[in-house]
Amino acid sequence: MPERFIYALINFIILAAIVFVVFRKLIVRIFRTRREQINKDLDEAEAALAMKEPEPLTDTEATVEGPSDGRIAALYAEASAEHNRRMDEMEVRLSTLRRDMLDRTNKAALEKLRLDTCALMAKEENAALFRRHERNIAHRILSLIKLTPGDITYLTHHDVLYVTLTSAFPLEEDLVKEIETAAKKLLDTVGGEPSFWVLTDPDCIGGLKLRIGDTVYDGTVSNALLGLVNNVIHKRPDPSHDVSSAGNTLISDVLAVDFNIDTYQLGRVISISDGICWLDGLADIMFGELVEFENGAMGMIQDIEPNRIGCIIFEDYENIESGTKVRRVGNMASVPVGNELLGRVVDSLGTPIDGLGNLWATETRPVEFAAPSITMRKSVSSPLHTGIKAIDALVPIGKGQRELIIGDRQTGKTSIALDAIINQKGKNTVCIYVAIGQKDTTVAEIYEKLKEKGAMEYTTIVCANASSSATEQYLAPFAGTAMGEHFMYEGRDVLIVYDDLSKHAVAYRELSLLLHRPSGREAYPGDVFYLHSRLLERSAKLSDEMGGGSMTALPIIETLSGDISAYIPTNAISITDGQIFLDTDLYNEGQRPAINVGLSVSRVGGAAQTPLLKQVAASLRMSLAQYRELQTFAQFGSDVDDDTRRVLSAGERMMAALMQKRYAPLTDGEIALIIFAVSEGFADDIPASGVWEFEKALFAHFKGTDILKRLSAGKRMDEEFKDTLKGALAAFVKEAGYVG
Ligand code: ATP
Ligand code: MG
Repeated sequence: MPERFIYALINFIILAAIVFVVFRKLIVRIFRTRREQINKDLDEAEAALAMKEPEPLTDTEATVEGPSDGRIAALYAEASAEHNRRMDEMEVRLSTLRRDMLDRTNKAALEKLRLDTCALMAKEENAALFRRHERNIAHRILSLIKLTPGDITYLTHHDVLYVTLTSAFPLEEDLVKEIETAAKKLLDTVGGEPSFWVLTDPDCIGGLKLRIGDTVYDGTVSNALLGLVNNVIHKRPDPSHDVSSAGNTLISDVLAVDFNIDTYQLGRVISISDGICWLDGLADIMFGELVEFENGAMGMIQDIEPNRIGCIIFEDYENIESGTKVRRVGNMASVPVGNELLGRVVDSLGTPIDGLGNLWATETRPVEFAAPSITMRKSVSSPLHTGIKAIDALVPIGKGQRELIIGDRQTGKTSIALDAIINQKGKNTVCIYVAIGQKDTTVAEIYEKLKEKGAMEYTTIVCANASSSATEQYLAPFAGTAMGEHFMYEGRDVLIVYDDLSKHAVAYRELSLLLHRPSGREAYPGDVFYLHSRLLERSAKLSDEMGGGSMTALPIIETLSGDISAYIPTNAISITDGQIFLDTDLYNEGQRPAINVGLSVSRVGGAAQTPLLKQVAASLRMSLAQYRELQTFAQFGSDVDDDTRRVLSAGERMMAALMQKRYAPLTDGEIALIIFAVSEGFADDIPASGVWEFEKALFAHFKGTDILKRLSAGKRMDEEFKDTLKGALAAFVKEAGYVG
């Protein structure tokens, strides 16, 4: 056993010795490499430590800039800009809402305040406050009284004129006597006599009033209070404005009031029906004057007969009944005008109906105004681009022109007018769109569309929709014209659209029949021609001395089954300087806009067309007329010779080239380019249905080129440029594969 252990030990030693001898080098190498590696790492670490310098402090600007990654910084900036924009938007909306609410609450609160103050003042213990003024007021009234022409006329027919003295408290006898004597003396000057009445009316609160004939000299507290409240209501609120401060002002105003004498004429309602009423009194009233009813509704005088006056009512007439008092306001019907109206939707009286708060316009203009005289005018000379190929090339419109858009229902009349408005963007032209008798939804759509295209910034919509009274529909175009005139006389360019005048004529017919005016052709009153001519005559190009402004009118007329010889269409055609006729057949064939080139004319616009378009479109009308003639002819015969076929297919292509989408106005250069390309035969190798694609490719090809820039300048092409253009077009059709 011990020997075996000794042998095993010797074996192990011999084996270990052999292994050491064989693997010695390898083992030594392994240990050495390991040591070297450790040493190297140590050296490197030391070197790194030695090289590392203290890091510079990040400078403050870099910290402010935020994350160093450029993309994140951009995103951050974008997000904060969006946040700011939304906050601004919210702020604007909130302030509008706040203002709107204030307006409404103020109005209601002030009315309540007025009634409360009336009640308070009428209390017996306060009576003494107003008594001491009576003699004073009476003397002031006596210094004012005079006879109006109406009173004198009345006295020539009747010897007696009613004179009524009304006061809140019974007056002293000597004062009454004094007033009666003065009245007698006044009437004596024309040989008349007063029928003198003395009344007491506690509703007056204090003071007194004297009525001679229809004229009232009012020195009562109730009237002064009414005036003060109206003043507060119509005053623009300042930021600190609130109801309580208005109330305080009112009370201090009442205490300080000096009882100025308010002079006005009074009448009363005899009968009322369907938005018109007959009045009695108001001896000196004039045609077109405004009157105010007891409930605050406004009316306008439209008819004066020997013993009654016809008046149209603008607002609700439910509270008006026979016997209601009417007060003469003293001015003609007028509407607010000015920059405040841009971007707004208003009704016929200029009251906003878009929920964006009060207008606070500082200026007004009468709705009826004389048209500029001949010496104030200048002939039409500069173009008003509509951006519609068929119109700008064939029936050009000049600034100050009146161009009728006429056609059956749903033929694209409104679309043309809207395109013209949209195309005025950035051209310093104010647009007014007057909607007469249209559906609310249609007007809302139009508003949204104009807003989307950025056109509301320079546009006002005057709206008297289908549910408005005939009175409002009658007034709307006159109101729109007054708003336009303001800008025209300021030297600016205006485009006004009346959509549409046939509904206006119907509203006027309704009014006239209610006012018992004799009816003529198609039951329209005889003066319906005068109605539209006095409206459209107000559109003009003013002379340089007058500031050089212009108002271009695009009245729209709806025909029945294409009948342009009906009464209203013929009237409108003869008043305007040309018409754009929209054809149902063309519309049904798919031609959009469905302009009938043969029946459409522009009588003065040619003078305003740019020389380039004039040159390019010169032969167009002729060739289109030729095409139409052959087209009718070719419908009957199946065999047509090559010449005819060529004219027909060229005509078809040209008609296709005149097609255009809605709300996509083109520049003058683009219009000239496509018409030139098609009429010079560069599209001859493609079918009419392909012209649309051709046009798209053409515009894309020439976008931003010098050629298009030169065309956009609108100058006439000389031969040299024509050749260049033809060369470029030839290269284009070859490149785009439109040949062969
Ligand atoms: P209305 O008699 O109801 O007032 P209108 O004559 O004013 O109608 P628009 O409302 O302008 O006609 O257009 C009628 C329809 O014709 C629109 O719904 C529109 O789809 C189509 N339309 C008009 N012009 C074009 C156009 N250039 N391209 C395509 N569609 C058009
Ligand atoms: Mg329409």
